[in-house]
Amino acid sequence: MIELAPHTAVMIYLGLTLLTMLAIWLSHHFRQRKKGVVIPQQKLATCEYCGQLYLTAIEQKVSKCPTCASYNE
Ligand SMILES: [Zn+2]
Repeated sequence: MIELAPHTAVMIYLGLTLLTMLAIWLSHHFRQRKKGVVIPQQKLATCEYCGQLYLTAIEQKVSKCPTCASYNE
């Protein structure tokens, strides 16, 4: 049987708890990194004539309003 002083047992308990929390944090951190960055393909545009909000492609300079069919820059 291994004999431990009470303060040594507390230190071992705290050390193991901190190591477990560090391992969980590290695994979560590296799992989040693998997901990468999502680049949006669309932007939110507002019609200059009727005020309608709609989605349009980012690279598209002129878009057509789906409500009033006006062209917006
Ligand atoms: Zn419109």
